Amino acid sequence: MKILVTGGAGYIGSHTVKLLGERGYEILVYDNLSTGNEWAVLYGKLVKADLSDKETVRKVIREFRPDAVIHFAAYIVVPESVREPLKYYRNNVVNTLNLLEAMMEEGVNNFVFSSSAAVYGIPEKVPVDEEAPLNPINPYGETKATVERILRDFDRAMDNFRYVSLRYFNVAGADPDKKIGFAYPDPTHLIIRAVKTAIGEYKTLYIYGTDYPTRDGTCIRDYIHVVDLAEAHLLAVNYLAEGGKSIVLNCGYGRGYSVLEVIDTAKRVTGVDFDVKEAPRREGDPPELVAKAEKIKRVLGWKPVYDDLEFIIKTAWEWEKEYIKRMGEDFTSPLPLGEESSQKGNKGQQ
Ligand code: UDP
Repeated sequence: MKILVTGGAGYIGSHTVKLLGERGYEILVYDNLSTGNEWAVLYGKLVKADLSDKETVRKVIREFRPDAVIHFAAYIVVPESVREPLKYYRNNVVNTLNLLEAMMEEGVNNFVFSSSAAVYGIPEKVPVDEEAPLNPINPYGETKATVERILRDFDRAMDNFRYVSLRYFNVAGADPDKKIGFAYPDPTHLIIRAVKTAIGEYKTLYIYGTDYPTRDGTCIRDYIHVVDLAEAHLLAVNYLAEGGKSIVLNCGYGRGYSVLEVIDTAKRVTGVDFDVKEAPRREGDPPELVAKAEKIKRVLGWKPVYDDLEFIIKTAWEWEKEYIKRMGEDFTSPLPLGEESSQKGNKGQQ
């Protein structure tokens, strides 16, 4: 099967490309390398181009003739989306329209979309199921909810078009082979920041809020290993190839860990008693976000194999050490070791 992967040089995209490549799929990656890395594309060819360039998108689809498109390419930093909403709507919504139009014009009908638990905002019920209302609380989440609505309408209008929308919860960890991992400058995610603090890149890990109505006062999240998530994309592609109908699926394990539990585990796994300080709440953080995760198992036959917080953090830690080592060789350093990056309470989200 031939798969076009937009954003295939990024974190989740590159893990999915690796898995597809290992299983013998033919891959073409379409990425502008704005946050992705060429070295992270381990299989297939890379087209360095932007989705705003519709002519190129169409030409690439016409020449490659994919059986399915997996669409990762998007901006994902929540506070940036609050400051620059038009940039987010243009890239995440308008460029997705370019891609869908090009697919339609070239007769490519199967689409897997990177959505997010951010579409739920602050859910009324936890674990949250796929039927819960879309109620995003920031422009990033709005762009994902908008694309989901576009997909619903496009699916209704077209005879052949079908899609799987995967709503990611908190994606973490790295390739156990240590070939790829999270590699963007100045990340905001908890597990990445914890391992970067353990390795000495940051002096302190801040806990954003200890007065939430949860078991220990800190926020609870459903952390999913990036390779299990990659597997969900592969199964989604197969599902569409077998004629499966359009569907929206949560991607999580269905269990939550608090920030304090993550920090304790990170200290144990890394063996480093790094500095941790309490800080005010970060704007827009729901107290608890945990997936109801049955539907994806039932519909796609998804069987997660890395549902283990220690393992998730261990692979993130192993990758971080490998990344630092390689930065001295042919990798581009995102930050000199020891230099404190901004602690503005930035918030990123998958
Ligand atoms: N968090 C934290 N310190 C950090 C980064 C994150 O306390 O340095 C908290 C954050 O407030 C949230 C949880 O960890 O409650 C998960 O945040 P993350 O940015 O990893 O993912 P999100 O759930 O926002 O997508």
